[in-house]
Amino acid sequence: MKPIYAFEDADSKNRMLLGGKGAGLSEMTRMKLPVSPGFTITTEVCNKYYENKERLPKNLMVEVSKNISKIEKKTGKKWNSNTNPLLVSVRSGAAKSMPGMMDTILNLGLNDQTVIGLTKKTNNPRFAWDSYRRFIQLFGKVVFGVKDTKFNNVLKAAKKKQGTEDDSELDVDSLKHIVTKYKKICKNHTKRKFPTRPNEQLQLAIEAVFKSWMGERAVLYREKNKISKDIANGTAVNVQTMVFGNMGNDSATGVVFTRNETDGTNEISGDYLTNAQGEDVVAGARTGKDISKLRNEMPKSYDELRKACKKLETHFREVQDIEFTIEQGKFYLLQTRTAKMTAFAWCKTSVDFVKEKFVSKDKALARIPAEQLEELLHPIIDKKEVKKFKSLTKGINAAPGAANGIAVFDVKRAVAMSDANPKLKIILVRDETKPEDVPAFFPSKGILTSEGGKSSHAALVARSMGKPCVVGCSELKVDYERKKCVANGTTVREGESITIDGSSGNVFVGEVPTIKPKIPIEWPILLSWAQKVKRLGIRANADTPDDAKRARKYGAEGIGLCRTERMFNAADRQRTFVEMIMAEDVGKLKEKLETEENKFERKQLESKINLEERKRRKVLEKLGRLMKNDFAQILKAMEGYKVTIRLLDPPLHEFLPSSEKLRHMKPKKRKEFRQRVNELKEVNPMMGHRGVRLGITYPDIYETQIRAVFDATAKLVRKKINAKPQIMIPQVGSIEELNHIKSIYDNVKSDMEKKYKIKFKINFGTMLEVVRACLTSNELAKTAEFFSFGTNDLTQAVFSFSREDAESKFLEEYKKKEILETSPFQSIDESGVGDLMDIGISRGRKIKSDLEIGICGEHGGDPDSIKFCHTADISYVSASPYRIPVAIIAAAQAAISKK
Ligand code: ADP
Ligand code: MG
Ligand code: MG
Repeated sequence: MKPIYAFEDADSKNRMLLGGKGAGLSEMTRMKLPVSPGFTITTEVCNKYYENKERLPKNLMVEVSKNISKIEKKTGKKWNSNTNPLLVSVRSGAAKSMPGMMDTILNLGLNDQTVIGLTKKTNNPRFAWDSYRRFIQLFGKVVFGVKDTKFNNVLKAAKKKQGTEDDSELDVDSLKHIVTKYKKICKNHTKRKFPTRPNEQLQLAIEAVFKSWMGERAVLYREKNKISKDIANGTAVNVQTMVFGNMGNDSATGVVFTRNETDGTNEISGDYLTNAQGEDVVAGARTGKDISKLRNEMPKSYDELRKACKKLETHFREVQDIEFTIEQGKFYLLQTRTAKMTAFAWCKTSVDFVKEKFVSKDKALARIPAEQLEELLHPIIDKKEVKKFKSLTKGINAAPGAANGIAVFDVKRAVAMSDANPKLKIILVRDETKPEDVPAFFPSKGILTSEGGKSSHAALVARSMGKPCVVGCSELKVDYERKKCVANGTTVREGESITIDGSSGNVFVGEVPTIKPKIPIEWPILLSWAQKVKRLGIRANADTPDDAKRARKYGAEGIGLCRTERMFNAADRQRTFVEMIMAEDVGKLKEKLETEENKFERKQLESKINLEERKRRKVLEKLGRLMKNDFAQILKAMEGYKVTIRLLDPPLHEFLPSSEKLRHMKPKKRKEFRQRVNELKEVNPMMGHRGVRLGITYPDIYETQIRAVFDATAKLVRKKINAKPQIMIPQVGSIEELNHIKSIYDNVKSDMEKKYKIKFKINFGTMLEVVRACLTSNELAKTAEFFSFGTNDLTQAVFSFSREDAESKFLEEYKKKEILETSPFQSIDESGVGDLMDIGISRGRKIKSDLEIGICGEHGGDPDSIKFCHTADISYVSASPYRIPVAIIAAAQAAISKK
């Protein structure tokens, strides 16, 4: 393989080989846009370098020299010349851009002789020496690893001595002095003279760029952003003739987007600096001027920039992010790539592109990063302000959006503080969270945990509630006793402000301003296009009337999963629910009664049973009324669309207080609770007494729930509201289980039809989340009127992974060691879980060919899983309300990609 390609000779389609930057430079060269000559050393060379124990391939520098000669011919400049020196930049660039992660060196080729050549040639000693000091600083930092602050201190001192605040005002003497000092800094650091021969400089620079590929920053970035080897494998090195934005006031450098990257308007947006070099803008060393000012300052160049933007955008059919430099009035392009934009801008530009007849509707839908659309519904960090704040730590971005508020470490305190002052903004900070902590989720703006991964309890619950969440901050130590947390030497106490960015995982000290979410006016248009091409139905996982309303607003066509237990999470309701659980199990008392012979004891037992039953019935009735009201509101919000209501699923002990809370109870109460907790304790709760098993052993709970659905429906029917509930049974593994509950349902139904004199049409169906259910779906389909895959539990069962344990104990390691590429809890594992789903679908549809089969579970909002569902002929996917836009666009994209 050829190790090096000149920009004009490279195959610019091959980004894997050339890296994104190299490919862009080569494509622009082919388009005859003004790009200074250069060449790309391929990513293959980078890989060889590592195979070779970090040594460059033998012939590489010979090839490099040949290519330098080619540049000499094109530019008329000479390498290592005392009269007209050729200077180059050495730039990193992998297939996937990794902003700020790898290194670039500018002005390479300067030494004590060539700097004089540059002075003579340009007649501009200030410029020559400014370039030289920049070179030594960048080279020292990148190649030798000298700390930037050392150089900056010298720079600051020089400015102070000369009495100026601006880099560009330093005079020649100051600059010469700086160069001497800089060289000394490098010499002290390396214990050798600063390399003067350009060839040696170049070789060291190339090696340094290759090294930066495995630098800590870069490795971490790839890990966090899931950049695997098939996405980017090694960095390329681009060696390019320098053009100078620092040659005076007719020179400049800048970065622009061809359309506004925040709101998508069709105008160039960006910043530039006069008399500066590229890294000044990128590093933010000086504050840039708005690009619109260039129109007056350098009208000719502005016009060229505008035309280049148009040309590149038309060529790539995509918004571009461009770097440019103006050298004494001459305009150059230095980089182009597909712009990263806000979700808002993606939506607007997609609709505009179609209006402008730029791309087809299908292309306009396909280009949107579906995953990012969740942003539309959450506040985001104000990028302009964030620089002013100190970072506390970084964790895993578990639920998108940004939130600021005061840190609170205790669940009870969070609830109490918010009750006292409902306007208080709280960020709940915990090691991890459990179901009993959920009451604190409601008053909190965001959740931060030091442990857990993307499917930890905190992440799941926060996501379904649409609250920002950062988990797995391993550096964060939470101290409940002292009410504080510490990370990287910084302490945050209860009541002090922090900000979490659930989209990036960043955590800041203080209150970083956020920007309110706004849905673009283009959204309904995109939605209508998507609805036309997609086949999959999109429903929401919504447990409360508010969720239902929100889901409807974003375009959900029904509810695929309404978890009845979530209704009991609010603090006041939790109490009632616990009361029900605490009501003594009369079954046991009845057993005792059967064997009891003492007359007196029997009497006592009978009255106790009576009392407990009444108590229990009373609580259940109260719960029934609460549920009826909730169901009615949810059904109303989803008028005309199906609402799938799942009966109680989790094991009962999940609702009982933790041992920590027990400790704070009064002794008598504590004893009672302890006893019940012990009775309900299980070795393997996820595979224990839950779902349909609860329904069979505590039939009055399921019966109450079914009644509530009928009551709610009757209420709405009378008001002529088209309510379409369906009842779904969790954890079913056999037809016998399903039929057992069906008979309860049938009894309630005939009761209710008599009571209300209405013929009800309320479908009765089952979840497929137990392996046996998938395998016997042909039997289940005889009773079930619909199926819904619970892919979370199904994945647990198929892998024999308990999700919580997998997340915290070994999944990360599995990914690192490439045993698993992605977590199966995030994207459906097609070959295992997917295959089992195929079996479930085909066996079920053999009995009922038009059987409605959906999926609910985290996977319903995941674009890759949605693609799988499209192909597997699933009827609909159900996702959290905040994932609805993502799911709709992903469903459309799945249909388009299969066209
Ligand atoms: P990054 O990928 O971090 O942006 P770049 O390789 O693009 O790094 O370079 C950093 C800065 O240096 C950019 O502003 C770029 O425009 C500028 N730059 C790079 N090469 C040259 C060159 N040959 N002439 C002038 N400026 C350059
Ligand atoms: Mg760049
Ligand atoms: Mg389940």
